[in-house]
Amino acid sequence: MSKKEQNAGGGNVTAMPDRCLAEGCNKGQSKLAFCEEHFVWYKEGLVNKKGERPSDFDRKYALFMRKKAA
Ligand SMILES: [Zn+2]
Repeated sequence: MSKKEQNAGGGNVTAMPDRCLAEGCNKGQSKLAFCEEHFVWYKEGLVNKKGERPSDFDRKYALFMRKKAA
């Protein structure tokens, strides 16, 4: 058994930076755990709340782009 998280106050604990959760994105978080762009993706179902793409991502992305262009 090992120590898990220590209580706040340590200083150099490996804290996750507030980065957008979407794969390959390293922008800062803006809304929920996403940047502005990926928050839209999240609302459109292009990423789940963990930042993972659904299996039918390509289809959804195509629809999303069409909607955006309209
Ligand atoms: Zn992002």
